[in-house]
Amino acid sequence: MLQEVIASQLRGIVGEKWFRDDRESLITHSYDGTPMLQSLPDGVIYPENTDQVAAILRLLQQYRVPVVSRGSGTNLCGGTVPVEGGVVMVMHRMNRILEVDLENLTATLQPGLNTKTFISHVEGLGLFYPPDPSSMAISTIGGNIAECSGGLRGLKYGTTKDYVIGLEAVLASGEIIRTGGKLMKDVAGYDLTKLLVGSEGTLAVITEATLKLIPPPKSKKTMLAMYKDLYGAARTVSSIIESRIIPATLEFLDNPTIRVVDDFAKLGLPLDMAAILLIEQDGDPETVERDIARIADICRSENAERVSIAADEAEALKLLTARRSAFTALARLRPTTILEDATVPRSKIAEMVLAINEIAARHRVTICTFGHAGDGNLHPTATTDARDAEEIHRVEAAFEDIFEAAIALGGTITGEHGVGLVKAPFLEWKVGTAGIEVMRAIKLAFDPSNILNPGKIFAKSARKRVVLGRG
Ligand SMILES: Cc1cc2nc3c(=O)[nH]c(=O)nc-3n(C[C@H](O)[C@H](O)[C@H](O)COP(=O)(O)OP(=O)(O)OC[C@H]3O[C@@H](n4cnc5c(N)ncnc54)[C@H](O)[C@@H]3O)c2cc1C
Repeated sequence: MLQEVIASQLRGIVGEKWFRDDRESLITHSYDGTPMLQSLPDGVIYPENTDQVAAILRLLQQYRVPVVSRGSGTNLCGGTVPVEGGVVMVMHRMNRILEVDLENLTATLQPGLNTKTFISHVEGLGLFYPPDPSSMAISTIGGNIAECSGGLRGLKYGTTKDYVIGLEAVLASGEIIRTGGKLMKDVAGYDLTKLLVGSEGTLAVITEATLKLIPPPKSKKTMLAMYKDLYGAARTVSSIIESRIIPATLEFLDNPTIRVVDDFAKLGLPLDMAAILLIEQDGDPETVERDIARIADICRSENAERVSIAADEAEALKLLTARRSAFTALARLRPTTILEDATVPRSKIAEMVLAINEIAARHRVTICTFGHAGDGNLHPTATTDARDAEEIHRVEAAFEDIFEAAIALGGTITGEHGVGLVKAPFLEWKVGTAGIEVMRAIKLAFDPSNILNPGKIFAKSARKRVVLGRG
């Protein structure tokens, strides 16, 4: 419970209607997209503008009350679970597009804007914002920025960090800072914009963003390559990149994922294949034709059983939408779905897929694997049941081994979902003790009282396991 003196001042800042501490509001903001994590906040607040955010932070800083910024709560790392209580600050009311600058090709907007609404708006103006997390129908741009989200187009176009060029943010003290701007070049001091992108609400509250837009590609083609041999599919990924073609999308789905996606989306996918690759190329029509033909040759030379090219845009869209629904489709299998996010150099995709299968078999758990194979970012996904403590223990042990295998192959513990609560104990495996110390010092400089999303990124204690061989 918040002291009444704090609650009444919060009501004074945003108005009676926009601060809640009733049981329903607290429970609905006690969890996010991550399974098996829940912790009640003491209040939920919905600011309308930057000045209100600043006033809220000044007050909470004064009383040392934790504050968790929240977009739509779709993150998969426990990033918005208020583990130390305090106030959840929902950014949904700050959802305006402030400007689309057609001369500079930038958009300036508020963080609570829905990602798909923004992408559709920009496309309506004949422009392109490539970051496309599969959750875009629900997620917010602020959440995408704070997690540095990626998506199906990350391979060719990069991720959120490549499009954020300016930010307005409120520090824990309530001071407002501006970083970057509409500038394509800016080396004035440390790059605070890039530092805030991916900072998971632990350094500042993002209240406005300026994003880079680009011209859309003139044409696109989508194809499916189907494999009886999983290793062949994984090897194709490396071969395509090695041949110096960068497809717009290069996605991998293993057999269990093909089955559930097909059952969900009724696409008539080949259920007897060990894996399929979903590949899209875009650009000038001649380049697209040439690349798709070359990619099809590479797939066949890596023993693809069948290669099929989508007949038209509607069929292509159906395939991409089905891939985006993989998580939702898998979630229908068993009561609990734990979607993870290990990433390896793309030349190691085949080894990583084999390692995941071996680890799953060893721990007797079901793990389906799909993901952005083109950028080495796999989503091994366990379908399990949170009520079965013994099985959950095996699932956790399997994921620990998967993260270890990723790091041993020169990879990382998360490619796009962030550290949050879930990966915090593993962060030191990736960045080392000195890396953690530098990060802690940065956190201290931004948020000396540790009120911004406490308990995230930095674990109380790291996992002890030492990774010996690094590929
Ligand atoms: C079905 C499904 C598919 C997904 N697919 C993808 C995918 O393809 N790629 C991908 O990268 N992720 C994916 N995700 C994960 C998730 O959707 C992304 O991390 C997304 O960016 C979170 O956005 P959100 O608005 O829900 O943020 P939230 O979950 O509400 O918050 C995420 C983090 O951002 C912080 N935050 C939110 N707003 C602000 C702000 N204004 N200022 C400072 N910090 C803030 C929060 O404190 C938290 O740490 C998926 C999730 C689901 C459920």
